[in-house]
Amino acid sequence: MASINFNRLQGKLNILADAAKYDVSCSSSGGNRKNQGGALGDASKTGICHSYTEDGRCVSLLKILLTNHCIYDCAYCTSRKSNDTPRAAFTVEEVVELTMQFYRRNYIEGLFLSSGIFKNADYTMERLVQVAKTLRERERFNGYIHLKTIPGASKELLHEAGLYADRLSANIEIPTKSGLALLAPEKTHDELQAPMQTVKEEIITIKDSRKKHKKAPKFVPAGQTSQMIVGASNETDLQVIQLSDHFYKKYELKRVYYSGYVPMLSDSRLPSIGTPVPMVRENRLYQADWLMRFYGFGAHEIVEADSPFLDLDCDPKLAWAIRHREHFPVNVQTAPYEMIVRIQGMDTKTAKKIVKDRKYNQNTLEHNKKMVAAVNRAKYFIATTGKNEHLSHLTRDNFRQFVLGQTQTKFKDERNGQLGLF
Ligand code: SF4
Repeated sequence: MASINFNRLQGKLNILADAAKYDVSCSSSGGNRKNQGGALGDASKTGICHSYTEDGRCVSLLKILLTNHCIYDCAYCTSRKSNDTPRAAFTVEEVVELTMQFYRRNYIEGLFLSSGIFKNADYTMERLVQVAKTLRERERFNGYIHLKTIPGASKELLHEAGLYADRLSANIEIPTKSGLALLAPEKTHDELQAPMQTVKEEIITIKDSRKKHKKAPKFVPAGQTSQMIVGASNETDLQVIQLSDHFYKKYELKRVYYSGYVPMLSDSRLPSIGTPVPMVRENRLYQADWLMRFYGFGAHEIVEADSPFLDLDCDPKLAWAIRHREHFPVNVQTAPYEMIVRIQGMDTKTAKKIVKDRKYNQNTLEHNKKMVAAVNRAKYFIATTGKNEHLSHLTRDNFRQFVLGQTQTKFKDERNGQLGLF
């Protein structure tokens, strides 16, 4: 393989890494930090991002589009055909070269490849597959590959993509059918979900054949994911969460990603430029998602129909507990695991430990302090054999105010920018 000419590709890389940053199906670093004297390394916006493999490892990925040319005109997308923006396209060989050279230099551990749609869905998907196939078969590349599926691509191409990629993803883009019809009238939810169904069926078929033939090839071992844009249309959080719940149940997705819309294009159908979706809305959606996947919450419990947006002032687990004080205080000595895990500040690991431990110990508040890291939050929701602090005499509003006032600073410190800590 010829040595890569970085200068020749730098222009394309700038355009196609920048265009890929709006896809959050794997989280992007997006930094642009110059090397300084005495420091080691630098960071540039050439599309290195981080993602998590099936076994929980964090890997850095080259995150690019194959092209930002597109035959479609989705209102929310910078690659839409009517947008006056610099265009570029990599050849299959260029992406292969970039990936291999970056990999050899230890810049990356894998590739995240998406694309605008040029000519048609199959033409584009074929090229994405060709990149993955060349990397695996000719270059013997054993790193991580995440490919975006192109809506409308044939089942044969999706099958082939799954044989070479670790993960496939299909973006649903706009959470409601009406929002999608307004902003991307050439697309439908059915069309966008079709690749998810195909991939799910292939996963099942290949799993079965691997039970009979150990050497049968693997198919998307890291599963499939999806992404939706939040705040470009007037969807509610309830609609967003219900759709995710549907995806987890119907297509067994590994993750749904939420991307707060950043208005940059002038279009009367979109929120006006300079009014991005507050980051906290995105965070609350990820927390709600976490509750559905690991804490046994139903979508209808997290956001209720009469108030269909998440409370931005407190995390959804606390918001549920405040709305449903009839379930508290929970007696951790006798309650089922499913209820213990709903206590504020309780994570799944601690809840399991309590269930195991209570056979031998009485759960006093002192004892729980040793086990529940966030006991300051938990104490208002736990009934133990010692002193209780569940404040049942307060009205719902007063209780909410009190708990938020007591715990808000703590939440910030404990979260330290992370999601999913309850
Ligand atoms: S099809 Fe994809 S790349 Fe093309 S305009 Fe729509 S969202 Fe953008």
